[in-house]
Amino acid sequence: MPSHEAAIRLGAFLAIFAAVALWEAITPRRTAAYSRLKRWPSNLAIVTLNTALVRLLLPATAVSLALLGTRRGWGLLNNLPIPPWTAVAVSVVLLDLAIYLQHVMFHAVPALWRVHRMHHADLDFDVTTGARFHPIEIVLSMMIKFGVVAALGASALGVLIFEVLLNATSMFNHGNVRIPVGLDHYLRWLVVTPEMHRVHHSIVVRETNSNFGFNLPWWDRLLGTYRDQPAAGHEGMTIGIEQFREARELWLDRMLSQPFRGRAGAYAITSRRAA
Ligand SMILES: [Zn+2]
Ligand SMILES: [Zn+2]
Repeated sequence: MPSHEAAIRLGAFLAIFAAVALWEAITPRRTAAYSRLKRWPSNLAIVTLNTALVRLLLPATAVSLALLGTRRGWGLLNNLPIPPWTAVAVSVVLLDLAIYLQHVMFHAVPALWRVHRMHHADLDFDVTTGARFHPIEIVLSMMIKFGVVAALGASALGVLIFEVLLNATSMFNHGNVRIPVGLDHYLRWLVVTPEMHRVHHSIVVRETNSNFGFNLPWWDRLLGTYRDQPAAGHEGMTIGIEQFREARELWLDRMLSQPFRGRAGAYAITSRRAA
């Protein structure tokens, strides 16, 4: 299975990217502030850069680490007498909880917020935003994932399903796509929808610091970070953060230097602010 991992992941990425991009072209939710030509080359370049960086820097994938863990008997699930399919399901759900908690941490710690805010500095919200993360965040989250996979004794198939699912839902829930309100109402009990995650990309601090989930919408509801809609409405809301609002900031070189420029700002959950 791991020998096919790269092909499975690339195939899923391309298929879902194309599907969401087509959906955006047919029924867009918001009028884009910038043309695709201004944003997509840099957003796609950073995905390519991140993929190459992870391959170069890290000797293993999370899936191969999970296989090794199973062989050596590492972690919780490898030491519990549970059926393999239960281990797959538990691995997927708990990895999703870990990603939710990690996302909250990237908003809470000012130094981590500096790195994560590049994702929020995109001035429009579409399928490419879902893959636009700073390389430092990608490497840090891979290391955290390795730790979680080893401690949990996650199933390799569970990790593979989780990785493909996370990639797919991240592109889906950043989609600038129109979904009927009634359908969204039910859908957001099962999966994080674009209407739900768009709130997280609002310029308003209390909205930025809500809806941290990527796959499963339950963590936000259970842990008190759920917010139904943006106050200004989906068409009236402003996407992005208060810093980095010039079009030049959408270029790759500026995106890469954003963590090191300016102040950490008032977005970090732990920062003191008057509001
Ligand atoms: Zn965030
Ligand atoms: Zn996002």
